Amino acid sequence: MAMKHEFSLAYAQELDASDSLNRFRSRFLFPQHEGRAAVYFTGNSLGLQPVSTRDYVLQELNDWQTFGVEGHFEAKNPWFSYHEMFAKPLAKLCGAKEKEVVAMGSLTNNLHLLMVSFYRPDAKRNKIICEKKAFPSDTYALQSQIRFHSFDYREALIEIAPREGEYTIHEDDILAAIELHKDSLALVMIGGVNYFTGQVFDMQKITRAAHDAGAFCGWDLAHGIGNIELKLHEWQVDFAAWCSYKYLNSSPGSVAGMFVHEKHLNNPAIPRFEGWWGTDPQTRFLMEDTFRPMDSAWAWQLSNAPVLTMAAHKAALDIFEEAGFENLRTKMRVMNSYLDFVLDEIIRMKGAGKMEIITPRKAEERGCQVSLVFPGRGKELFTALTQKGVIADWREPNVVRIAPVPLYNSIEDIYRFGEILMEIL
Ligand SMILES: *Cc1c(COP(=O)(O)O)cnc(C)c1O
Repeated sequence: MAMKHEFSLAYAQELDASDSLNRFRSRFLFPQHEGRAAVYFTGNSLGLQPVSTRDYVLQELNDWQTFGVEGHFEAKNPWFSYHEMFAKPLAKLCGAKEKEVVAMGSLTNNLHLLMVSFYRPDAKRNKIICEKKAFPSDTYALQSQIRFHSFDYREALIEIAPREGEYTIHEDDILAAIELHKDSLALVMIGGVNYFTGQVFDMQKITRAAHDAGAFCGWDLAHGIGNIELKLHEWQVDFAAWCSYKYLNSSPGSVAGMFVHEKHLNNPAIPRFEGWWGTDPQTRFLMEDTFRPMDSAWAWQLSNAPVLTMAAHKAALDIFEEAGFENLRTKMRVMNSYLDFVLDEIIRMKGAGKMEIITPRKAEERGCQVSLVFPGRGKELFTALTQKGVIADWREPNVVRIAPVPLYNSIEDIYRFGEILMEIL
């Protein structure tokens, strides 16, 4: 986006004044630093608490108090069908059909459940392609799934690394690996947005290549959902999973979610680990021995809904609905444009050797997050940022991640960050 920017507080405030989503900032609770809101740039790690969350959770506590067990059917939002309220907003965020998504479980749990269905290796096809330095939980999940099937992950897990001296991964290297291993490949499972660099992958292209090789393709969207535009149905993605406490602001460890493509629903050839909440609700309380799967991703649900965390999830998704994801995407492009300008200013003033931006610049290869490396500086730089009221995060060995999010961050936040960083450098 070719915009001519200025590095000044007045200019930043002017941009904020013309932002139609500005009003949403006051709907969130900010950690305070020296009497004012901190510059909160860790929405990619734990989103802020919406002001409304307390009331949504209180509603369920009150209904529990009033109705006891009858709340399953008598509560304002009956707990028996509580998860059904998420079909619409999650389908929108994922670019999916309502029956392809479900709010349930936790991210790593869901990845395991999905691999039970979509990673069924045999002597010929047992390899999984993933990115090198995936989020550790994903790596452990992948390794343990391979071990569970009595294969050796040192042979079966193919990790695609950035090239020598680089931080991001060449998509061509992923495609080449898929081609190379096509006769033994069972699954491709990658983070759609890399947690370390913020790099966004072309999920459609990689999914197609995996399918051409005869493998399934699934995506970890922990850093994707609520951040970038997703079209999981159209892209023919087999499955995906995410957590809701990052860009979705749904409270620490809150209920997660998953996507299963329509083509795999109600397909007896795709096995599952099953529980009573995956059965047809009409017959669920008949307590029969026969599992009658729901004709949707809900068939993967094991347990009854964790209503308190789902209430927080509902509060957060209602705000997304109100703001409109398209509007948020538009604002993100303005924020990224200003952030790039500010970072370039810093590099211009302080010298190119002082800071390196490792996140791709191209709009289609990035979301809200920008990862920064400061050659010759260590964690002390990050500590100085914290002391001056910037809440960012540090990833070993040398990366500072920042993620200004359109829902509650402002252009002024970016200006203040730039000013503080300029001073520290
Ligand atoms: C945040 C994150 C997780 C966390 O997993 P939980 O099961 O929610 O603890 C896993 N994978 C990725 C890629 C993440 O970004």
